[in-house]
Amino acid sequence: MNEDVLRARWERVQARLREEFGEGAYKSWLNRMSLNEVRDGRLRIAVPTRFLKDWVVTHYGERIRALWSREDPQVSGIEVLVRPSLAKAAPPPPKPAEEPEGNQVENFGAPLDPKHKFDNFVVGKPNEFAYAAARRVAEQDAVSFNPLFLHGGVGLGKTHLMHAVAWHIRERAPTRSVIYLSAEKFMYRFVKALRFQDTMSFKDQFRSVDVLMVDDVQFIAGKDATQEEFFHTFNALVDEGRQIVISADKSPAELQGIEERLRSRLGCGLVADIHATTYELRLGIIDAKIEQMGIEVPRKVAEFIAHKITGNVRDLESALHRVIAHTQLVGRDITLESIPEVLHDQIRASDKRVTIEEIQKKVAEHFNVRVADMHSARRARQVARPRQVAMYLAKLLTQRSLPEIGRKFGGRDHTTVMHAVKKIEELRAIDSSFAEDVELLRRMIEN
Ligand code: ADP
Ligand code: MG
Repeated sequence: MNEDVLRARWERVQARLREEFGEGAYKSWLNRMSLNEVRDGRLRIAVPTRFLKDWVVTHYGERIRALWSREDPQVSGIEVLVRPSLAKAAPPPPKPAEEPEGNQVENFGAPLDPKHKFDNFVVGKPNEFAYAAARRVAEQDAVSFNPLFLHGGVGLGKTHLMHAVAWHIRERAPTRSVIYLSAEKFMYRFVKALRFQDTMSFKDQFRSVDVLMVDDVQFIAGKDATQEEFFHTFNALVDEGRQIVISADKSPAELQGIEERLRSRLGCGLVADIHATTYELRLGIIDAKIEQMGIEVPRKVAEFIAHKITGNVRDLESALHRVIAHTQLVGRDITLESIPEVLHDQIRASDKRVTIEEIQKKVAEHFNVRVADMHSARRARQVARPRQVAMYLAKLLTQRSLPEIGRKFGGRDHTTVMHAVKKIEELRAIDSSFAEDVELLRRMIEN
């Protein structure tokens, strides 16, 4: 391959990265990479330190690969090599990426994270519905449900999905204008416009978009003036057939401090819930991240992390990063033995999160039975059912084994617990109001 062609490509990719990630990120990280070679469908770039390598791989690797495949479709992979001889000055401390300069509409919104695309969103039972709904919105110009309302606990992928929708539309239909921003930012812009008596251009900017995405709307709870403005913007856009996508940590019905008319507007499109992670999803996400980073992690270690870090995906990512950083720093392979030590804080936090006693207490309160009934031998339906729900939640939310759970419920056998879990799963599948009840309890216990 001709050197000049390669160099020109590399320059174009670098210029693009600079544009997308901003001057700060460019100076700190991106211009410290150098092109090594392109061979066998792989782009190899070199950086002076291992730390820089990790940083580049996790934050920019996928984007660099994508940009390069656009230049040369033969290239499908990227490798980052460490070449200490490239070191110039001491590396500057990590700086947050600056907002990329874009056109006005983009500036009005918030920057999109290039890692948050559909391609790197792992789909599993807890998020498949939200994912499907988001894809539908991203792939169609016609509005099918308005708004799309995504909700779920913190760190479960709402922002990721919203960015993915925005990226997808930008790539598929670049003429459509998309604004993505947080509700906080919306409020901030609005207050600023009020102060500068510039509400007209504020309104115009929002009302001229094709797709408006507002993240974390729970932030405008109790902020009456912002809600009012949001409500009008919302209605104006819906009336003109523009698409709106909203996220929040709760469903419209559960959102507190939101005016009734706005609440009912929010809930009148499609409401899609992202549920707590399951073991399978966590393992899937770990596998995907490992593959993206191009590193080797023993199966047992991946399983251990998926088993122990039961919180949200953000916790999971940080645990994984910690394991990788640690083993690279001490220069050892990742082994199962070293993990508990590296992750002991996270594991403790995650184990501590829910106890069986807490579950029993909350479930008893919820169904208005006595905590003692959780241990008692009474079989009347009105106490047996709550007890089964508590056993089910104990299995779902703690790391306790079936026999351990049985013991905590008045010394019952593990088969009783197994039966309870099955029973509740069956009921959830056939009775949606019961399913909601259990879901609500789970949320209450987890938070
Ligand atoms: P939320 O907005 O719901 O608080 P985020 O979208 O910020 O959560 O997700 C937290 C982190 O977890 C992000 O880095 C995101 O990329 C990652 N993440 C969440 N869900 C998934 C998933 N299904 N597949 C891959 N990464 C995920
Ligand atoms: Mg978010």
